[in-house]
Amino acid sequence: MHEKTLIELREDIRSKKISSTELTKFYLDRIKKYDDKLNSFITITEERALERAKIADSEIAKGKVKKLTGIPIAQKDIFCTKGIKTTCGSKMLSNFISPYDATVIEKFNEEGSIMIGKTNMDEFAMGSSNETSYFGNVHNPWNLECVPGGSSGGSAASVAAGLAPCATGTDTGGSIRQPASLTGICGLKPTYGRVSRYGMIAFASSLDQAGIFAKTAEDCALLLSCISGYDSKDSTSSKKDVPDYLEECRNLNLPKKIGVPIEFLKDLDKGVAKVFQEALRELENMNCEIVDISLKSSKLGVSAYQVVAPAECSSNLSRYDGVRFGHRANNIKDISELYKKSRSEGFGNEVKRRILVGTYALSAGYYDAYYLKAQKIRSLISSEFNTAFNNVDLIIGPTAPDVAFKIGEKMNDPIAMYLSDVYTVSTNLAGLPAISIPMGLKNDLPLGLQIIGNHFQESQILSLARQFQEVTDWHKKQPSEIK
Ligand code: GLN
Repeated sequence: MHEKTLIELREDIRSKKISSTELTKFYLDRIKKYDDKLNSFITITEERALERAKIADSEIAKGKVKKLTGIPIAQKDIFCTKGIKTTCGSKMLSNFISPYDATVIEKFNEEGSIMIGKTNMDEFAMGSSNETSYFGNVHNPWNLECVPGGSSGGSAASVAAGLAPCATGTDTGGSIRQPASLTGICGLKPTYGRVSRYGMIAFASSLDQAGIFAKTAEDCALLLSCISGYDSKDSTSSKKDVPDYLEECRNLNLPKKIGVPIEFLKDLDKGVAKVFQEALRELENMNCEIVDISLKSSKLGVSAYQVVAPAECSSNLSRYDGVRFGHRANNIKDISELYKKSRSEGFGNEVKRRILVGTYALSAGYYDAYYLKAQKIRSLISSEFNTAFNNVDLIIGPTAPDVAFKIGEKMNDPIAMYLSDVYTVSTNLAGLPAISIPMGLKNDLPLGLQIIGNHFQESQILSLARQFQEVTDWHKKQPSEIK
């Protein structure tokens, strides 16, 4: 059953082959059986899930079904969930019970889905391996000695291992696509502004975007339809109409011209290049025209990102002061000691590193040299994408430079860790939508194909992804360590 797609499970529920209660119990049992090995959940919301499943079953009996009625879902612990612990992977919020639901959570509730738990993640979404979580690292279901990627590592691992049929994630520099690539599933980061950020704990507000994980492009399309749309509580959310993504991804013609940035292939690992070339051949067999393009400034993406994201995080994270909510230090003499001690105790090393870098980059003497320069590179990257999209419909490349690496391998080398995002950050800097879908294996570990579209071209991306999945079966491969 855990091998079924979301769309298949939805059919089973609608045709009463299985009840929502049975399905919810099935996934809760799998979590109990396997999550000791993976550590993909921080909180399991069993009681509440079963209550909601019962309600869903009575709705189904009355013939009232919404888009996701009765479907279990795992939520990244970055989304505020009313009455339920919302930790963001940090000691700072380890006891925080949110008084309200994030818009994404609200929308999933409205569509009748059942939250089964909150997933593990890098602290405040800062990381590429899920090793910065206060709640311990997550293991990759393909090889338990390897990382699942990050920051949405818990969500990715739980879907890959069949502990949930789908999950949410957030992507500031690659945190949906890179873990999707490393765990062999699909991960979609929508256009900036497509999905409301309200109630999604902020890391770098001009880059953060909510998105989803599932097994297939069609599943992602269905989920995207549920969470997209304008929200008066997020002024950066778009008023653009929300199409029926599932319908569009099933019916759109195949995008004809696809660009491959030559910069993405330079210095690419040979094993990854081989798998990517095979994916290209597959696309050519599907009658796509593949052309070389150049995104010259993309090589500066990680450097620009590592200035812009920390700068914004240093501002966003100033709200954790030990006064209003979150961790508060004991035995303090005065207010400044309260700030200092609460923040020193509440934040982990990576978060502190980002705050320091960000504060430095924004300080009077260095603003022009770092922050302004990074913003200029950001504009350059955006305009190069614009130029490229005048000539091609979509852009593709590998999602990550390599397969999952060993736990601990990059923890003492932040630069090596940051380079995990070399192919993903540019799209965040430009606000573009992109998906990662499985394209093959290297040393028995999965690799993702990234498909990038122009702003609000999610349907085109999903359509190509769906058609690729019609002629390949990489998305059907199951991880070896969790059966
Ligand atoms: N790995 C990147 C970072 O550490 C991206 C994180 C993200 O997308 N949330 O900043």
